[in-house]
Amino acid sequence: MEEIIVLRSYRVAEFTKPLVLSEESLPQPQGGEVLLKMERCGVCHSDLHIWDGYWDLGGGKKIVAANNGALLPLTMGHEIVGTVVAVGPDARNVAIGQRRLVFPWIGCGVCPVCRDGAEHLCAGKSPAIGIFSHGGYASHVIVPRTDCLLDFGSLSAELASTYACSGLTAYSALKKIGKLHEGQSLLIVGAGGVGLNGIAMAKAVTGAAPIVADIDPVKREAALKMGAREAIDPRAEGAGKALVKATGGVAAAVDFAGSPQSFEFAYNALRKTGHLVSVGLLGGQVTISLPLLVMKGVQISGSYVGSLQELRELLMLAQAQHLPALPIEIRPLDAVNSALSDLKAGKVVGRIVLAD
Ligand SMILES: [Zn+2]
Ligand SMILES: [Zn+2]
Repeated sequence: MEEIIVLRSYRVAEFTKPLVLSEESLPQPQGGEVLLKMERCGVCHSDLHIWDGYWDLGGGKKIVAANNGALLPLTMGHEIVGTVVAVGPDARNVAIGQRRLVFPWIGCGVCPVCRDGAEHLCAGKSPAIGIFSHGGYASHVIVPRTDCLLDFGSLSAELASTYACSGLTAYSALKKIGKLHEGQSLLIVGAGGVGLNGIAMAKAVTGAAPIVADIDPVKREAALKMGAREAIDPRAEGAGKALVKATGGVAAAVDFAGSPQSFEFAYNALRKTGHLVSVGLLGGQVTISLPLLVMKGVQISGSYVGSLQELRELLMLAQAQHLPALPIEIRPLDAVNSALSDLKAGKVVGRIVLAD
């Protein structure tokens, strides 16, 4: 008997509730669409926010996903590597059997931000994969455009998958800092999945091996293995003052955690003219002294994921420089609920990548 192929997906049917298995007939790609058989899909911290249904803005304010274009049920998963199994009639530059990494941060293409080349920050109706359209916690995924399918060359599928969000986020943040001069210090706060990717590529992108601050000793240990110059506990008595004394203040810092505590630790560590890039989305708000901001001449930037061009650059860099691979644990797609729970409980060092 012929095997009937169905699309199995794990969907958020209700915020915060376990994902629900759904089975349907395999979709036929239309127009320029491509159908991928999912091979690897990273489990990202931002999925926890989608699953919760809101982002904490601080001061009791929230962005609620349901008000922001997210429609349930939704298949999450935006760090996808897969094999092309079917192509739409208008899909160009693609062939069945190709293994590709998906750029998920697709914009509307017509809003002013998309037209400036920053579709990952689309101000219109973005169909970002795994965020606003069905993603990779599934046996198959529809990708709407072939230019979002990238060749990952000699990289392993699981490492490549983590570059679509965690790696790209780290790369784009570090690129905003640019090249540091000899003797200038770089601080990285937070050594979770994104932070570890940042530590792995910091030297290649900025020229500096970072000093890493994380409250978890296991993550500090992982940071040292990934090439951190030093790993400190920001909660230790006098840690901030000691850091400023040892470095004269850091020239640049990236906050991969994004809590008031992590932001303030990084901000207070800056020397005059320092640059803080804020990346993490734990949530909350901070108060900043305006005269000190002015008189120290510091810069604060926000950085959210990254562009298609930056993902292309990152894949080249990763292959050319053999960036250290972050610790990856592969679990079956059917274990997605326990993977999300473990991530939520802070039990994951590096990345869980689902396989099907
Ligand atoms: Zn747009
Ligand atoms: Zn992500």
